[in-house]
Amino acid sequence: MKKISLIIPFYNEASGVSAFFENLDKALASMRTNYSFEIICVNDGSQDNTLEQLINCKMGREEVKILEFSRNFGKEAAITAGLDYAKGDAVIPMDSDLQHPPETIPVMIAQWEQGFDVVLAKRTDRATDGFIQEVTARAFYEVSRHISHIDIPADVGDFRLMDQKVVAALKGMKETCRFMKGIFSWVGFRTATIEYKVNPRLCGKSSFNTWKRWNFALEGITSFSTVPLRVWTYLGGAITFLSFCYALYLIVKTAWFGADTPGFASLMVAILALSGVQLIGIGVLGEYIGRIFMESKQRPVYIVRQIY
Ligand code: UDP
Ligand code: MG
Repeated sequence: MKKISLIIPFYNEASGVSAFFENLDKALASMRTNYSFEIICVNDGSQDNTLEQLINCKMGREEVKILEFSRNFGKEAAITAGLDYAKGDAVIPMDSDLQHPPETIPVMIAQWEQGFDVVLAKRTDRATDGFIQEVTARAFYEVSRHISHIDIPADVGDFRLMDQKVVAALKGMKETCRFMKGIFSWVGFRTATIEYKVNPRLCGKSSFNTWKRWNFALEGITSFSTVPLRVWTYLGGAITFLSFCYALYLIVKTAWFGADTPGFASLMVAILALSGVQLIGIGVLGEYIGRIFMESKQRPVYIVRQIY
């Protein structure tokens, strides 16, 4: 019997744990004749009683595993931990707030049985997101498509099925700054896409705010593209060329017509514009150097306190 591993990160989801298991069990019931399951719940340092709830729902069930982190390491770390512990022939990470409907699982498995190594679940609408979130998500996918060497499919999150071949490949990616969507895309493999409708959050509230999402997007861009670094070479080149032309013009003009003092405005504009551009350039360098710094420390991505 083939085994399917589900990886489910929990962060302050106490109010939804039992409902999640109820829905999951309902969806899995009809598949149990053909597949065995492994349900890896990662408690990502929740401050509420998510852990007690999880232990409650486990109640001696062999297939349910609970990894308790020593603190909050973030969703990307939780999924990484799940991938490290998963033993299934296929692995599916999914959210614990029922936004990823468990009824999609059999559809994914069917595609996998047809020989696909990766089955992406693409959301068909963004109705659960605000307007700004929708626009910025679009912008992110657009930018990253143009400047990254990988193609991150739009509207596809961590909800996907991956064959154990793919999981083995993912384990080879040791970076500590983990942008899972990018890492997933980077390894490639034969990919199918299915569609699903995102549910509204069952209860509780999202732990991502606008600032977190912005940093997440920065992580995504800088982890998989060096274009923001290289663009300064070209910008610097263009400005140098224009300055040279302007210098020539000034020399010729002074030689012909003599010097006239006014020029405060153009000086100020040049100083302000150039220093702004330089600061942005330094900021971008800082983004990358910061990441080199983090990677060079080789810290573990997560720390497990206990396994239940
Ligand atoms: N999550 C996590 N660690 C965190 C933040 C979130 O494990 O630091 C989990 C959370 O429990 C949920 C999933 O990641 O299962 C998605 O989080 P959320 O629903 O808050 O994000 P959204 O769906 O709004 O993008
Ligand atoms: Mg959610």
